[in-house]
Amino acid sequence: MSSAVNTLAATETGFVEKHPLERYAAPAQPSLVGMPRDMLAQALAESGVPERQRRMRVQQIWHWLYVRGAQDFEVMTTLSKDLRAALAQRFTVSRPPIAAEQISVDGTRKWLIQLPGERAAAPHEVECVYIPESDRGTLCISSQVGCTLNCSFCHTGTQRLVRNLTAAEIAAQVVIARDRLGDWTSSSESDLGSGERRRLVSNVVMMGMGEPLYNFEAVRDGINVIADGDGLSISKRRITLSTSGVVPNITRAGAEIGSMLAISLHAVSDDLRNQLVPLNRKYPIAELLEACRNYPGLSNARRITFEYVMLKGVNDSLADAKALVRLLKGIPAKINLIPFNPWPGTQYECSDWDQIEKFSEVVFAAGYASPVRTPRGRDILAACGQLKSASEKLSARERLALRAMAMTD
Ligand code: SAH
Ligand code: SF4
Repeated sequence: MSSAVNTLAATETGFVEKHPLERYAAPAQPSLVGMPRDMLAQALAESGVPERQRRMRVQQIWHWLYVRGAQDFEVMTTLSKDLRAALAQRFTVSRPPIAAEQISVDGTRKWLIQLPGERAAAPHEVECVYIPESDRGTLCISSQVGCTLNCSFCHTGTQRLVRNLTAAEIAAQVVIARDRLGDWTSSSESDLGSGERRRLVSNVVMMGMGEPLYNFEAVRDGINVIADGDGLSISKRRITLSTSGVVPNITRAGAEIGSMLAISLHAVSDDLRNQLVPLNRKYPIAELLEACRNYPGLSNARRITFEYVMLKGVNDSLADAKALVRLLKGIPAKINLIPFNPWPGTQYECSDWDQIEKFSEVVFAAGYASPVRTPRGRDILAACGQLKSASEKLSARERLALRAMAMTD
């Protein structure tokens, strides 16, 4: 099916979801990097490791892969030479290749990561972005190539859904970032037991390409690899899953994933949200907020983030701001106002800065700390439109949007 037909089917026939066009085709020699523990145990079984040893071997390999960042079986000295050779015959510890890397003056890094296509000659690319702040470093990762949905302000939404990422491909994005940032524990640190040092990648947000709740199992399993305390060890309190509002799977995520949650709200009336986030026609605002109210473990210390992209003349009036705080009343919530990041061909513009400030004042007066009002937020504001230089590949606007999105706790 061509992308045009695929998109048409999604928008004009009343269906709001697209279907994947491809499946993941495993390479002849798969990589162990990112595999959930049960798959890794299976890989060991295939390599001749007897059942009684598997747990211990999984644990050892887990340490090499996710604490030490091993890029070769040869360095895994706690495994016998024979086992290393047997593993190397069937598997690799390679990472998905980086097709392009962009580094901004403020430390933001964006990687285009290549993933295999069903046809070897046609690989895919997804984005992964690192956003450093004074108190954290947030990695924004992708869950699908393209997206199931067609949000009208989102560039990914204009693309067809090519395929879902596997759990391993989801977790591998954190491994790639730690590689590129030199964010692994060295042998001396590990011997001293000082694995508690501050990590460059301390937080993860699932806000790259794709709708994570339409790739549920892989996202759940990938998050479990990222959160595993013997490995990458980024706790679920520091992992935020962002959804456009797949209501049944929000409930399921509460039961089976337990990460933090962000909701792409973007509008306070169903009429407008139907246009911006067409999935709203299936799961309207009232149902969405009900699922949020029932999300387990909510408290003032554990809030849901509501994302609100600022679109000039569309959703940015002060009446909208007042309606927004009314709507969220009673839900432990945080509101992230995201400056719209324009793309070629979009019908929208980013709200003017003084309008974003006025909007954020209403939000702030209702008791919500809003990123654009924090000290860091003011830095962002000051930087708006000024930092762009010929040498920078990420636009100031893009970095702005990314920073606002990264402030989830
Ligand atoms: N599909 C998920 C997660 C990926 S999008 C979701 O929709 O929540 C991550 C966030 O970026 C969402 O809040 C999305 O609405 C927002 N977003 C998408 N395009 C944007 C743009 N051009 N400018 C600013 N934010 C955008
Ligand atoms: Fe998909 Fe999220 Fe973009 Fe909507 S905003 S099209 S759900 S990636």
